[in-house]
Amino acid sequence: MTSVQQMQRKPFLKIPAESGSFRFRVYTGRQLDKIEQIRALPQEQQFAMRVVANVLPFRVNQYVIDELVDWNNIPDDPMFRLVFPQAGMLTESDFALMADAMRRGDKQEIRKVAADIRQRLNPHPAGQRGLNVPHLKDEALEGIQHKYRETVLFFPSHGQVCHSYCTFCFRWAQFIGDKTLRFSAKEAEHLHHYLLQHPDVSDLLITGGDPMVMKTNHLADYLEPLLRAEFDHIQSIRIGTKSLTFWPQRYVRDADADDLLRLLEKLARAGKHVALMAHYNHWRELETRVAREAIRRVRETGTVIRTQAPLLNHINNDAGIWARMWRTQVKLGLTPYYMFVERDTGARQYFEVPLVRAWEIYREAMQQVSGLGRTARGPSMSAGPGKVEIQGISEIHGEKVFVLRFIQGRNPAWVQRPFFARYDEQATWLDQLQPALGEEKFFFQDEYDAMCKGEISPRHYQQKQR
Ligand SMILES: *Cc1c(COP(=O)(O)O)cnc(C)c1O
Repeated sequence: MTSVQQMQRKPFLKIPAESGSFRFRVYTGRQLDKIEQIRALPQEQQFAMRVVANVLPFRVNQYVIDELVDWNNIPDDPMFRLVFPQAGMLTESDFALMADAMRRGDKQEIRKVAADIRQRLNPHPAGQRGLNVPHLKDEALEGIQHKYRETVLFFPSHGQVCHSYCTFCFRWAQFIGDKTLRFSAKEAEHLHHYLLQHPDVSDLLITGGDPMVMKTNHLADYLEPLLRAEFDHIQSIRIGTKSLTFWPQRYVRDADADDLLRLLEKLARAGKHVALMAHYNHWRELETRVAREAIRRVRETGTVIRTQAPLLNHINNDAGIWARMWRTQVKLGLTPYYMFVERDTGARQYFEVPLVRAWEIYREAMQQVSGLGRTARGPSMSAGPGKVEIQGISEIHGEKVFVLRFIQGRNPAWVQRPFFARYDEQATWLDQLQPALGEEKFFFQDEYDAMCKGEISPRHYQQKQR
Protein backbone atom coordinates (compact mmCIF):
# COMPACT_ATOMS: atom_id res chain seq x y z
CA MET A 1 0.00 0.00 0.00
CA THR A 2 1.44 3.38 -0.94
CA SER A 3 1.36 6.10 1.64
CA VAL A 4 -1.03 8.07 -0.61
CA GLN A 5 -3.56 5.31 -0.12
CA GLN A 6 -2.84 5.21 3.57
CA MET A 7 -3.46 8.89 3.71
CA GLN A 8 -6.84 8.55 2.04
CA ARG A 9 -7.84 5.80 4.43
CA LYS A 10 -6.76 7.43 7.63
CA PRO A 11 -9.89 8.89 9.18
CA PHE A 12 -10.05 12.59 9.92
CA LEU A 13 -9.49 13.67 13.45
CA LYS A 14 -12.87 13.57 15.14
CA ILE A 15 -13.63 17.11 16.07
CA PRO A 16 -16.74 17.73 18.16
CA ALA A 17 -19.70 18.98 16.09
CA GLU A 18 -19.41 21.87 13.62
CA SER A 19 -18.30 24.37 16.21
CA GLY A 20 -17.91 27.97 15.00
CA SER A 21 -14.13 27.83 15.08
CA PHE A 22 -14.09 25.24 12.33
CA ARG A 23 -15.90 27.35 9.78
CA PHE A 24 -13.56 29.96 8.37
CA ARG A 25 -14.99 33.28 9.56
CA VAL A 26 -12.80 36.36 9.52
CA TYR A 27 -13.03 39.85 11.06
CA THR A 28 -11.22 42.99 9.91
CA GLY A 29 -10.84 46.44 11.52
CA ARG A 30 -14.36 47.59 10.70
CA GLN A 31 -15.82 44.45 12.28
CA LEU A 32 -14.00 44.64 15.62
CA ASP A 33 -17.28 45.34 17.38
CA LYS A 34 -18.82 42.21 15.86
CA ILE A 35 -16.52 40.07 18.01
CA GLU A 36 -18.42 39.08 21.12
CA GLN A 37 -15.35 38.95 23.37
CA ILE A 38 -14.24 42.42 22.23
CA ARG A 39 -17.66 43.94 22.91
CA ALA A 40 -17.23 42.83 26.52
CA LEU A 41 -14.11 44.99 26.95
CA PRO A 42 -14.23 48.57 28.35
CA GLN A 43 -15.24 51.21 25.75
CA GLU A 44 -11.93 53.00 26.10
CA GLN A 45 -9.97 49.86 25.28
CA GLN A 46 -12.18 49.17 22.26
CA PHE A 47 -11.61 52.71 21.01
CA ALA A 48 -7.83 52.33 21.41
CA MET A 49 -7.96 49.15 19.33
CA ARG A 50 -9.87 50.93 16.57
CA VAL A 51 -7.33 53.78 16.60
CA VAL A 52 -4.45 51.38 15.96
CA ALA A 53 -6.46 49.29 13.48
CA ASN A 54 -6.89 52.44 11.37
CA VAL A 55 -3.13 52.54 10.84
CA LEU A 56 -1.86 48.95 11.00
CA PRO A 57 -3.48 45.91 9.37
CA PHE A 58 -5.91 43.88 11.46
CA ARG A 59 -7.53 40.58 10.58
CA VAL A 60 -8.45 37.67 12.84
CA ASN A 61 -10.46 34.50 12.42
CA GLN A 62 -12.86 32.68 14.70
CA TYR A 63 -10.49 29.78 15.41
CA VAL A 64 -7.85 32.15 16.79
CA ILE A 65 -10.49 33.98 18.86
CA ASP A 66 -12.05 30.83 20.31
CA GLU A 67 -9.17 28.37 20.58
CA LEU A 68 -5.95 30.38 20.98
CA VAL A 69 -6.72 33.58 22.91
CA ASP A 70 -7.20 33.25 26.67
CA TRP A 71 -9.97 35.76 27.32
CA ASN A 72 -9.45 35.51 31.08
CA ASN A 73 -6.06 37.14 30.70
CA ILE A 74 -6.67 40.37 28.77
CA PRO A 75 -4.62 42.35 27.80
CA ASP A 76 -1.57 40.31 28.89
CA ASP A 77 -2.37 37.13 26.97
CA PRO A 78 0.37 36.61 24.35
CA MET A 79 -2.09 35.26 21.75
CA PHE A 80 -4.26 38.37 22.26
CA ARG A 81 -1.23 40.58 21.67
CA LEU A 82 -0.23 38.49 18.67
CA VAL A 83 -3.31 39.52 16.71
CA PHE A 84 -5.24 42.32 18.43
CA PRO A 85 -4.10 45.95 18.22
CA GLN A 86 -2.95 47.60 21.47
CA ALA A 87 -2.65 51.29 22.32
CA GLY A 88 1.15 51.07 22.74
CA MET A 89 1.64 49.92 19.15
CA LEU A 90 1.60 53.58 18.04
CA THR A 91 3.72 56.28 19.65
CA GLU A 92 1.77 58.53 22.00
CA SER A 93 1.83 61.41 19.54
CA ASP A 94 0.70 59.30 16.56
CA PHE A 95 -1.99 57.72 18.69
CA ALA A 96 -3.26 61.15 19.68
CA LEU A 97 -3.26 62.34 16.05
CA MET A 98 -5.41 59.42 14.96
CA ALA A 99 -7.66 59.52 18.03
CA ASP A 100 -8.37 63.23 17.43
CA ALA A 101 -9.08 62.65 13.75
CA MET A 102 -11.51 59.88 14.66
CA ARG A 103 -13.31 62.07 17.18
CA ARG A 104 -13.78 64.66 14.42
CA GLY A 105 -15.05 61.87 12.19
CA ASP A 106 -13.86 63.21 8.80
CA LYS A 107 -13.11 60.08 6.74
CA GLN A 108 -10.75 61.85 4.40
CA GLU A 109 -8.74 63.29 7.28
CA ILE A 110 -8.54 59.85 8.93
CA ARG A 111 -7.14 58.38 5.72
CA LYS A 112 -4.60 61.17 5.41
CA VAL A 113 -3.45 60.86 9.03
CA ALA A 114 -3.15 57.08 8.61
CA ALA A 115 -1.06 57.45 5.46
CA ASP A 116 1.24 60.00 7.15
CA ILE A 117 1.82 57.79 10.17
CA ARG A 118 2.53 54.74 7.99
CA GLN A 119 5.19 56.65 6.10
CA ARG A 120 6.96 57.26 9.41
CA LEU A 121 6.96 53.53 10.24
CA ASN A 122 9.60 52.51 7.66
CA PRO A 123 7.15 50.50 5.54
CA HIS A 124 9.83 48.84 3.37
CA PRO A 125 12.78 47.80 5.52
CA ALA A 126 16.04 46.24 4.27
CA GLY A 127 15.84 47.41 0.65
CA GLN A 128 13.04 45.00 -0.21
CA ARG A 129 11.53 47.11 -2.96
CA GLY A 130 14.66 48.44 -4.57
CA LEU A 131 17.70 46.23 -4.09
CA ASN A 132 15.96 42.85 -3.99
CA VAL A 133 13.67 43.05 -7.01
CA PRO A 134 15.24 41.43 -10.06
CA HIS A 135 14.75 42.34 -13.69
CA LEU A 136 14.12 40.34 -16.84
CA LYS A 137 15.52 42.42 -19.68
CA ASP A 138 14.42 45.82 -18.34
CA GLU A 139 11.17 44.80 -16.74
CA ALA A 140 11.00 44.64 -12.91
CA LEU A 141 9.70 41.25 -11.78
CA GLU A 142 7.41 42.54 -9.06
CA GLY A 143 6.52 39.21 -7.46
CA ILE A 144 10.10 38.01 -7.11
CA GLN A 145 12.88 38.94 -4.69
CA HIS A 146 16.41 37.70 -5.03
CA LYS A 147 18.74 38.84 -2.29
CA TYR A 148 20.94 35.82 -1.54
CA ARG A 149 22.48 33.81 -4.35
CA GLU A 150 20.95 30.42 -3.53
CA THR A 151 17.41 31.43 -2.71
CA VAL A 152 14.66 33.12 -4.71
CA LEU A 153 11.59 34.46 -2.92
CA PHE A 154 8.29 34.33 -4.76
CA PHE A 155 5.10 36.19 -3.77
CA PRO A 156 2.19 34.56 -5.63
CA SER A 157 -0.61 37.07 -6.18
CA HIS A 158 -3.23 34.65 -4.79
CA GLY A 159 -1.31 34.30 -1.55
CA GLN A 160 -1.00 37.90 -0.41
CA VAL A 161 -3.21 37.73 2.67
CA CYS A 162 -3.01 35.58 5.82
CA HIS A 163 -5.68 33.72 7.78
CA SER A 164 -5.02 36.31 10.53
CA TYR A 165 -2.45 39.10 10.76
CA CYS A 166 0.30 39.29 13.35
CA THR A 167 0.50 42.70 15.00
CA PHE A 168 4.30 42.81 14.51
CA CYS A 169 4.34 41.66 10.88
CA PHE A 170 7.31 43.15 9.02
CA ARG A 171 5.37 42.90 5.76
CA TRP A 172 2.47 44.88 7.21
CA ALA A 173 2.60 47.51 4.45
CA GLN A 174 1.62 44.86 1.88
CA PHE A 175 -1.76 44.46 3.53
CA ILE A 176 -2.82 48.10 3.45
CA GLY A 177 -5.31 49.04 0.75
CA ASP A 178 -2.74 50.94 -1.31
CA LYS A 179 -1.84 48.43 -4.03
CA THR A 180 1.37 50.25 -4.91
CA LEU A 181 2.79 49.03 -1.60
CA ARG A 182 2.13 45.43 -2.49
CA PHE A 183 4.25 42.87 -4.28
CA SER A 184 2.48 40.43 -6.50
CA ALA A 185 3.35 38.20 -9.41
CA LYS A 186 0.96 38.14 -12.32
CA GLU A 187 2.30 34.98 -13.78
CA ALA A 188 3.88 31.72 -12.72
CA GLU A 189 5.70 32.04 -16.06
CA HIS A 190 7.85 34.87 -14.76
CA LEU A 191 8.95 32.72 -11.89
CA HIS A 192 9.72 29.67 -14.00
CA HIS A 193 11.52 31.75 -16.59
CA TYR A 194 13.64 33.42 -13.93
CA LEU A 195 14.55 30.11 -12.30
CA LEU A 196 15.57 28.64 -15.66
CA GLN A 197 17.91 31.56 -16.19
CA HIS A 198 19.54 31.14 -12.77
CA PRO A 199 21.20 27.72 -12.47
CA ASP A 200 22.91 28.80 -9.22
CA VAL A 201 19.56 29.06 -7.44
CA SER A 202 18.94 25.89 -5.44
CA ASP A 203 16.07 27.04 -3.23
CA LEU A 204 12.69 28.51 -3.98
CA LEU A 205 10.87 30.13 -1.07
CA ILE A 206 7.19 30.78 -1.71
CA THR A 207 5.99 33.45 0.66
CA GLY A 208 3.42 36.21 1.10
CA GLY A 209 1.15 36.97 2.91
CA ASP A 210 0.62 33.27 3.30
CA PRO A 211 0.77 30.96 0.28
CA MET A 212 -1.32 28.43 2.20
CA VAL A 213 -4.41 30.66 1.84
CA MET A 214 -4.31 29.58 -1.82
CA LYS A 215 -6.39 26.78 -3.22
CA THR A 216 -4.30 23.69 -3.87
CA ASN A 217 -4.79 23.92 -7.63
CA HIS A 218 -3.23 27.41 -7.68
CA LEU A 219 -0.29 26.24 -5.63
CA ALA A 220 0.11 23.30 -8.01
CA ASP A 221 0.33 25.69 -11.00
CA TYR A 222 3.44 27.21 -9.44
CA LEU A 223 5.01 24.05 -8.07
CA GLU A 224 4.28 21.08 -10.32
CA PRO A 225 6.23 22.42 -13.31
CA LEU A 226 9.33 22.36 -11.08
CA LEU A 227 9.35 18.58 -11.40
CA ARG A 228 10.51 18.88 -15.03
CA ALA A 229 14.13 17.96 -15.61
CA GLU A 230 15.05 21.52 -16.59
CA PHE A 231 14.40 22.52 -12.96
CA ASP A 232 16.68 19.90 -11.45
CA HIS A 233 18.79 22.71 -9.96
CA ILE A 234 15.86 23.62 -7.69
CA GLN A 235 16.59 21.23 -4.85
CA SER A 236 14.42 22.73 -2.14
CA ILE A 237 10.94 24.16 -2.14
CA ARG A 238 10.14 26.10 0.98
CA ILE A 239 6.73 27.50 1.79
CA GLY A 240 6.59 30.26 4.39
CA THR A 241 3.39 30.01 6.41
CA LYS A 242 1.56 30.82 9.62
CA SER A 243 -1.30 28.47 8.72
CA LEU A 244 -0.26 25.77 11.20
CA THR A 245 -1.12 28.33 13.88
CA PHE A 246 -3.90 30.40 12.36
CA TRP A 247 -5.77 27.78 10.33
CA PRO A 248 -4.50 24.22 10.85
CA GLN A 249 -7.81 23.10 9.35
CA ARG A 250 -6.06 23.82 6.05
CA TYR A 251 -4.38 20.41 6.37
CA VAL A 252 -7.20 18.57 8.12
CA ARG A 253 -10.69 19.67 7.16
CA ASP A 254 -10.62 22.14 4.25
CA ALA A 255 -12.27 20.77 1.11
CA ASP A 256 -8.90 20.45 -0.65
CA ALA A 257 -6.83 19.51 2.41
CA ASP A 258 -6.10 16.02 1.08
CA ASP A 259 -5.21 17.41 -2.36
CA LEU A 260 -2.74 19.73 -0.69
CA LEU A 261 -1.10 16.86 1.18
CA ARG A 262 -0.89 14.85 -2.03
CA LEU A 263 0.76 17.78 -3.79
CA LEU A 264 3.39 18.07 -1.05
CA GLU A 265 3.95 14.34 -1.16
CA LYS A 266 4.31 14.32 -4.93
CA LEU A 267 7.05 16.96 -4.75
CA ALA A 268 8.85 15.14 -1.95
CA ARG A 269 8.64 11.79 -3.71
CA ALA A 270 10.06 13.28 -6.87
CA GLY A 271 13.18 14.13 -4.90
CA LYS A 272 12.65 17.74 -3.87
CA HIS A 273 13.29 18.80 -0.31
CA VAL A 274 9.93 20.24 0.69
CA ALA A 275 9.87 22.41 3.79
CA LEU A 276 7.16 24.37 5.51
CA MET A 277 8.85 27.37 7.06
CA ALA A 278 6.39 27.61 9.91
CA HIS A 279 6.10 30.69 12.02
CA TYR A 280 5.61 30.04 15.76
CA ASN A 281 5.91 32.75 18.40
CA HIS A 282 4.81 30.83 21.47
CA TRP A 283 4.36 27.21 22.57
CA ARG A 284 0.66 27.92 23.03
CA GLU A 285 0.25 27.80 19.25
CA LEU A 286 1.27 24.14 19.30
CA GLU A 287 -1.22 22.97 21.88
CA THR A 288 -4.60 22.56 20.16
CA ARG A 289 -5.66 19.14 18.89
CA VAL A 290 -6.20 20.34 15.38
CA ALA A 291 -2.77 22.02 15.29
CA ARG A 292 -1.14 18.74 16.26
CA GLU A 293 -3.21 16.78 13.77
CA ALA A 294 -2.14 19.20 11.02
CA ILE A 295 1.52 18.74 11.94
CA ARG A 296 1.13 14.97 11.92
CA ARG A 297 -0.50 14.98 8.49
CA VAL A 298 2.05 17.36 6.94
CA ARG A 299 4.97 15.30 8.23
CA GLU A 300 3.44 12.15 6.79
CA THR A 301 3.94 13.58 3.31
CA GLY A 302 7.71 13.72 3.75
CA THR A 303 7.61 17.49 4.23
CA VAL A 304 9.98 18.90 6.82
CA ILE A 305 8.62 21.59 9.12
CA ARG A 306 11.19 24.19 10.14
CA THR A 307 10.24 26.87 12.61
CA GLN A 308 11.17 30.52 12.97
CA ALA A 309 9.99 33.62 14.82
CA PRO A 310 11.11 36.98 16.09
CA LEU A 311 11.74 37.69 19.75
CA LEU A 312 9.01 40.12 20.79
CA ASN A 313 8.50 42.22 23.86
CA HIS A 314 5.02 41.54 25.38
CA ILE A 315 4.73 38.17 23.59
CA ASN A 316 7.76 35.93 24.04
CA ASN A 317 10.37 38.06 25.85
CA ASP A 318 11.32 35.20 28.14
CA ALA A 319 13.83 32.34 27.86
CA GLY A 320 11.41 29.85 29.43
CA ILE A 321 8.85 30.46 26.67
CA TRP A 322 11.46 29.79 23.96
CA ALA A 323 12.85 26.72 25.68
CA ARG A 324 9.39 25.21 26.09
CA MET A 325 8.52 26.10 22.49
CA TRP A 326 11.68 24.51 21.09
CA ARG A 327 11.27 21.41 23.26
CA THR A 328 7.68 20.98 22.13
CA GLN A 329 8.69 21.44 18.51
CA VAL A 330 11.41 18.82 18.74
CA LYS A 331 8.98 16.42 20.38
CA LEU A 332 6.50 16.94 17.53
CA GLY A 333 9.23 16.40 14.93
CA LEU A 334 9.72 20.06 13.95
CA THR A 335 13.16 21.60 13.43
CA PRO A 336 13.88 24.99 15.06
CA TYR A 337 15.54 27.18 12.42
CA TYR A 338 15.80 30.89 13.31
CA MET A 339 15.28 33.28 16.20
CA PHE A 340 14.95 36.72 14.65
CA VAL A 341 15.38 40.19 16.08
CA GLU A 342 12.21 42.30 15.71
CA ARG A 343 12.65 44.36 12.54
CA ASP A 344 12.96 48.12 12.22
CA THR A 345 9.45 48.67 10.90
CA GLY A 346 5.81 49.06 11.94
CA ALA A 347 5.08 48.81 15.65
CA ARG A 348 8.74 48.14 16.45
CA GLN A 349 8.83 50.45 19.46
CA TYR A 350 6.22 48.22 21.14
CA PHE A 351 7.91 44.92 20.32
CA GLU A 352 11.64 45.63 20.17
CA VAL A 353 14.06 44.20 22.70
CA PRO A 354 17.67 45.43 23.11
CA LEU A 355 20.19 43.22 21.30
CA VAL A 356 21.92 42.46 24.60
CA ARG A 357 18.69 41.12 26.05
CA ALA A 358 17.93 39.16 22.84
CA TRP A 359 21.27 37.42 23.11
CA GLU A 360 20.72 36.62 26.82
CA ILE A 361 17.34 35.07 26.09
CA TYR A 362 18.72 33.04 23.20
CA ARG A 363 21.54 31.77 25.35
CA GLU A 364 19.41 30.96 28.38
CA ALA A 365 16.86 29.15 26.20
CA MET A 366 19.61 27.16 24.43
CA GLN A 367 20.98 26.08 27.79
CA GLN A 368 17.61 24.57 28.68
CA VAL A 369 17.17 22.30 25.63
CA SER A 370 19.00 19.27 24.28
CA GLY A 371 21.17 19.45 21.20
CA LEU A 372 18.20 18.67 18.95
CA GLY A 373 16.60 21.93 20.06
CA ARG A 374 19.74 23.96 19.44
CA THR A 375 19.33 24.07 15.68
CA ALA A 376 17.82 27.56 15.77
CA ARG A 377 20.38 30.18 14.78
CA GLY A 378 20.13 33.70 16.11
CA PRO A 379 19.34 36.17 17.35
CA SER A 380 19.50 37.27 13.72
CA MET A 381 18.82 40.68 12.17
CA SER A 382 17.50 40.60 8.60
CA ALA A 383 19.11 43.90 7.70
CA GLY A 384 19.97 45.57 4.40
CA PRO A 385 23.42 43.98 3.95
CA GLY A 386 22.31 40.52 5.11
CA LYS A 387 21.30 38.37 8.04
CA VAL A 388 23.56 39.36 10.92
CA GLU A 389 23.75 37.09 13.94
CA ILE A 390 24.72 38.18 17.43
CA GLN A 391 27.16 35.50 18.43
CA GLY A 392 27.91 36.89 21.83
CA ILE A 393 29.36 39.61 23.99
CA SER A 394 33.06 39.54 24.72
CA GLU A 395 35.97 41.69 25.80
CA ILE A 396 38.98 42.27 23.58
CA HIS A 397 41.94 44.15 25.03
CA GLY A 398 39.69 45.73 27.63
CA GLU A 399 36.99 46.80 25.17
CA LYS A 400 33.53 45.27 25.54
CA VAL A 401 32.19 44.21 22.13
CA PHE A 402 29.42 42.42 20.29
CA VAL A 403 30.74 39.48 18.29
CA LEU A 404 28.74 39.35 15.05
CA ARG A 405 28.70 37.34 11.86
CA PHE A 406 26.75 37.17 8.63
CA ILE A 407 24.49 34.13 8.32
CA GLN A 408 23.63 35.43 4.86
CA GLY A 409 25.14 38.30 2.94
CA ARG A 410 24.40 40.22 -0.24
CA ASN A 411 27.94 39.24 -1.09
CA PRO A 412 28.33 35.52 -0.35
CA ALA A 413 31.97 36.18 0.60
CA TRP A 414 30.79 37.99 3.73
CA VAL A 415 29.16 34.86 5.15
CA GLN A 416 30.65 33.44 8.38
CA ARG A 417 33.20 36.23 8.74
CA PRO A 418 33.23 37.40 12.38
CA PHE A 419 33.22 41.16 13.04
CA PHE A 420 32.91 43.36 16.08
CA ALA A 421 30.73 46.24 17.22
CA ARG A 422 31.02 48.41 20.29
CA TYR A 423 28.95 47.13 23.19
CA ASP A 424 25.74 49.13 23.47
CA GLU A 425 23.11 48.36 26.06
CA GLN A 426 20.32 50.16 24.24
CA ALA A 427 20.90 49.23 20.60
CA THR A 428 18.06 47.30 18.98
CA TRP A 429 19.22 47.13 15.36
CA LEU A 430 22.33 46.92 13.21
CA ASP A 431 22.21 50.58 12.12
CA GLN A 432 22.62 51.63 15.76
CA LEU A 433 25.88 49.73 16.16
CA GLN A 434 29.35 51.28 15.78
CA PRO A 435 32.49 49.42 14.73
CA ALA A 436 34.71 48.44 17.65
CA LEU A 437 38.48 48.27 18.19
CA GLY A 438 39.22 51.62 16.59
CA GLU A 439 37.82 50.70 13.16
CA GLU A 440 36.08 53.50 11.27
CA LYS A 441 33.58 51.33 9.45
CA PHE A 442 32.43 47.77 9.22
CA PHE A 443 34.29 45.65 6.65
CA PHE A 444 31.26 45.41 4.35
CA GLN A 445 30.25 49.09 4.46
CA ASP A 446 31.91 50.43 1.31
CA GLU A 447 30.75 47.53 -0.81
CA TYR A 448 27.20 47.73 0.54
CA ASP A 449 27.09 51.49 -0.11
CA ALA A 450 28.20 50.85 -3.68
CA MET A 451 25.35 48.34 -4.12
CA CYS A 452 22.84 50.87 -2.76
CA LYS A 453 24.11 53.50 -5.18
CA GLY A 454 23.81 51.06 -8.07
CA GLU A 455 27.55 50.99 -8.70
CA ILE A 456 27.60 47.23 -8.20
CA SER A 457 24.72 45.23 -9.64
CA PRO A 458 23.17 42.53 -7.43
CA ARG A 459 23.50 40.25 -10.47
CA HIS A 460 27.24 40.34 -9.92
CA TYR A 461 26.83 38.12 -6.86
CA GLN A 462 24.07 35.90 -8.10
CA GLN A 463 26.35 33.69 -10.11
CA LYS A 464 29.10 31.63 -8.60
CA GLN A 465 32.52 33.01 -9.42
CA ARG A 466 33.90 30.27 -11.67
C1 LIG B 1 16.39 34.52 5.18
C2 LIG B 1 16.22 34.84 3.76
C3 LIG B 1 16.45 33.86 2.79
C4 LIG B 1 16.82 32.44 3.15
O1 LIG B 1 18.07 32.36 3.76
P1 LIG B 1 18.58 30.98 4.35
O2 LIG B 1 19.81 31.31 5.11
O3 LIG B 1 18.82 30.08 3.18
O4 LIG B 1 17.47 30.46 5.22
C5 LIG B 1 16.32 34.24 1.47
N1 LIG B 1 15.99 35.49 1.10
C6 LIG B 1 15.78 36.46 2.00
C7 LIG B 1 15.46 37.85 1.54
C8 LIG B 1 15.88 36.17 3.37
O5 LIG B 1 15.66 37.14 4.26
